[in-house]
Amino acid sequence: MTVKYTKIFCYTILPILLLTIGFFMPLPSQAAHLNAPVHNISMEFDLETNSLSANSRIELPAGVGLRLGISNLNVSRILVNGQPGEATQVGDYLDIHESTNDQEILITYNKIIPPGSAQYSMINESGITLSDQWYPIADREVLFKLTALIPDDFEAISEAEDIISFQIGNKKQVTFRFPHPLFAINFVAGPYIITRGEFGEGKDLFAYFFPEDQELAAEYLEKARQYLDRYEKMLGPYPYKRFSIVENRLPTGFAMPTYTLLGQAVVRLPFIVDTSLGHEVLHAWFGNGVRMSPQEGNWVEGLTTYLADQAFAADKDREIPYRKEQLVKYQSYVRPDMDLTLRDFSNVGHGHSKGRPARAVGYNKSSMFFHMLKNRLGPEVFTDSLRDFYIRLKHKTGGWSDLQTSFESVSGMELNDFFSQWLDRNDVPEILIQQPEIRNNDGYPVVSFTVVQKNDTPYTLKLPVIIKTPTEEIQKILSVNDSPSTFEIPLASIPETLIIDPGYDIMRSLSPSELPATWSRFSGAVNKIAILSSENDRTLYSSFLEQLEADEVHILLQDEVTDKDLAENSLLFIGTESRVSRSLFAIPDHPEGGFTLDARGNPLNADQVAVLVSAANKEQVEKAAAKLRHYGKYSYLSFKDGRIQDKRMTETDLGLQVQLVSRPAGIEANTSVAFDDIIEKLLHYQVIYIGEGHTDYEDHILQLEIIRALYKHDPNLAIGMEMFTRSTQTVLDQYMKRDMDEKTFLKESHYFKMWRFDYRLYRDIINFARHNHLPLIALNLERDTVSQVFKNGGPMSLPEDDISSLPANRKLDLPGYRERIESAYMMHAGQGQNGGFSGFFQAQALWDETMAETIADYMEIHPDTRLVIIAGRGHVDKTDAIPPRVSRRLPVSQAVVINSTGSTTESETADFIFFSSPATLSPFPLLGVMLEDTEDGEGALVTALNPQGQAKQAGIKEKDIILAIDSDPVNDMEDVKIVMLYKVKSDAVTVQIKRKKFFGNKLMEVEVSLKSEGQSHHMKRN
Ligand SMILES: [Zn+2]
Repeated sequence: MTVKYTKIFCYTILPILLLTIGFFMPLPSQAAHLNAPVHNISMEFDLETNSLSANSRIELPAGVGLRLGISNLNVSRILVNGQPGEATQVGDYLDIHESTNDQEILITYNKIIPPGSAQYSMINESGITLSDQWYPIADREVLFKLTALIPDDFEAISEAEDIISFQIGNKKQVTFRFPHPLFAINFVAGPYIITRGEFGEGKDLFAYFFPEDQELAAEYLEKARQYLDRYEKMLGPYPYKRFSIVENRLPTGFAMPTYTLLGQAVVRLPFIVDTSLGHEVLHAWFGNGVRMSPQEGNWVEGLTTYLADQAFAADKDREIPYRKEQLVKYQSYVRPDMDLTLRDFSNVGHGHSKGRPARAVGYNKSSMFFHMLKNRLGPEVFTDSLRDFYIRLKHKTGGWSDLQTSFESVSGMELNDFFSQWLDRNDVPEILIQQPEIRNNDGYPVVSFTVVQKNDTPYTLKLPVIIKTPTEEIQKILSVNDSPSTFEIPLASIPETLIIDPGYDIMRSLSPSELPATWSRFSGAVNKIAILSSENDRTLYSSFLEQLEADEVHILLQDEVTDKDLAENSLLFIGTESRVSRSLFAIPDHPEGGFTLDARGNPLNADQVAVLVSAANKEQVEKAAAKLRHYGKYSYLSFKDGRIQDKRMTETDLGLQVQLVSRPAGIEANTSVAFDDIIEKLLHYQVIYIGEGHTDYEDHILQLEIIRALYKHDPNLAIGMEMFTRSTQTVLDQYMKRDMDEKTFLKESHYFKMWRFDYRLYRDIINFARHNHLPLIALNLERDTVSQVFKNGGPMSLPEDDISSLPANRKLDLPGYRERIESAYMMHAGQGQNGGFSGFFQAQALWDETMAETIADYMEIHPDTRLVIIAGRGHVDKTDAIPPRVSRRLPVSQAVVINSTGSTTESETADFIFFSSPATLSPFPLLGVMLEDTEDGEGALVTALNPQGQAKQAGIKEKDIILAIDSDPVNDMEDVKIVMLYKVKSDAVTVQIKRKKFFGNKLMEVEVSLKSEGQSHHMKRN
């Protein structure tokens, strides 16, 4: 038990740990008032020697024993009933045994507090603060009577209803009286100027501010008055006669009976009057007025957070984001294996980072508990129950069970299950929506869906849901008692979106699309690594690295990192220049001169985050690193000289959203634009992408028509093609210069090996370029490299030469990119076992980045040339594919043209949309065989036959080797495809084959008819 009962620590001001007295479990105090011991303390100070000397006189009623903690005190005399030796000293404790008579204990002691030696105490010329152990502390509540002799230019305060001070010589004597027993008290004195105000019905309000902060006092008094009035109205009368706001030289955020003690640095922060001050004021009711029962957990912080911090956010219409931030924080720090329940939460936790999970339970989950309770009972019953609780237990201790009693008696409801599921479980609901369906009933839509809880035991929930239709929003509360639970909701019009818990009214686990990447998520991640660019950065970032090491973050040099590490961990890149960082995020746009922390999703793993950190120098790192722990909820932080310049949280979905129907989009007929008008507009752009479905012939016809029209207006034109890899550029150049024929071109560019689609789809475009001497630019990456990346899960294990040939700066975290590639990956599921999604995604990104790099390089050298790009539809997406990657490298004007496929997202991904009629090529002449290259490089091996194909009918068999077709020799499967390309109009071909026989090989010729084979553009079959 580490709670100091009279001092409620609020990490909303300063997340530092509450010092523990920690020497015993205090005894409960019900009815203690009547025979409470009385503890008279009188003390004086010597500021020069940082010391106090004091007498404690304790009046102990008959039948009461006492244990006193005297650690850290220099005790010079102990008298019990005027006699020494009547007390038993055990280490730091002093035991006074109960007696049939009243007893009097007298203890004389002093204490020196050297500057900087105590966290919450000091004695010097600038002021006195006594918050650690400074007098013999009893193991039960006692009535305090305190008298202090202080310098006459000081004012003093302690827990007191009445404070009387008068001059004695050149000193001031101050006497404090408090009529309720307390476990402990605190004492503060300094050169304060006291400003007086008033609240309620003539109650005293004071500000004890240092002279240098006088101008702040008026606002503190006014805001405190508003809070006191607010909570008196809500909960009942303030429990004491006076309230003071006291400035402290030491950094505290404490609420004691009758006053709050705020650090001077805290007081000067402009937002404290609107946030923490109200929280501390409310502790007068909860925490001090009703104190925590030592037998039960801490309900105080959650209730105070809810009625203060959450309520203040609600005053500013920020209650939904506020609750969402609470859920993000909870999810960042608390994992099921931690086994933290709300009922077990007793204090703010030990240390900075280790206490974060406990605080996320004790403040955030607890605040959500009260929010759900309010929604369950209604706001009036909720508030009435709290009043009942407060009035019943004022100046006593109370626990969760007392709260439950008040809520049950006022509401007349049985709440045991509700309290139990939220207080005693260590998990929170994890909700999925499955099988969303729309059917029609009498012509009206009915939406049905299943709510699944991934938890072992389902929660009982009142789950808010919104269904959005084009004309209205329907709100419902679903009673979920089991998992799965299926719901049906009849509607008047077709629903577009289903949103579960849009207002964050339920304590639950957030779905990936609701969860922003934040600094707290890295801090709380189980699997995390930090990646250093170089050894030099160890010095530059040393202060930050020390914090990481204290948090047990594994720190690696970039050369030690594998593709697997990247795909399985939350990542922290120290310095943004590293090869690894650039391979995922290119060069982020961080401001110069300060310190920037930039949290994003890990593009290779949706459950993990990646944080990019950059800094100008060691000093900037030191100044910012000291502050980072206050900013866990943010995604992006920029500091200069330790002061925050910019702080942002990435926007994510509000509520658990399920898209139901997207209705077709259209255009007005009179807004459609003629072909020539579009060409006119396209002439304003330097790079024009014309996307294609590779086998959609109408797309290729459109490409050719646009190229022809652009050329007519301006012959300074080049064509870039996805279909050729960059290493074949010289072959393309030779072919354009007419230094080789088409067959040689196809053979040497390995068109059929690399691309495989029917060459006739591209032939006219290429021939047009050739005829008009237009440059043809090969854009693509080597297929072997791609397949290695695909297989290995990333490029890290490629040979060094291959790595250095790749674009070094690659950006995988463009919004929507990962999701788009992931849905493509799902459709290819089963192909990607080796490198998984990480490999698939890295390969896709390498394609896009390589093509973008080639385009940017070309445009840099040829700024006056217009470049038309022929590439697959997915690569020309202007939001996340090649175009933004070109812009990143070079400022050029770009336009994207596609043929419509009817998708509603086309207006976002393209600039110009055509509606072409479908077109088909004549069927490609097929033999009806599957082929492989032979090992000796002679001929093409037949591995399978189409059972209905012409080759089979002509007598070709499996394992035959094709040596020639008509008179053209065949050395490999590519040759077969090239030869067949020219057989379009033939009726039949003569195929020379070699067939392995028992006694040697047999050469034979068969005639294969090319009629009636079905159409296929995919050239794997031939
Ligand atoms: Zn608090």
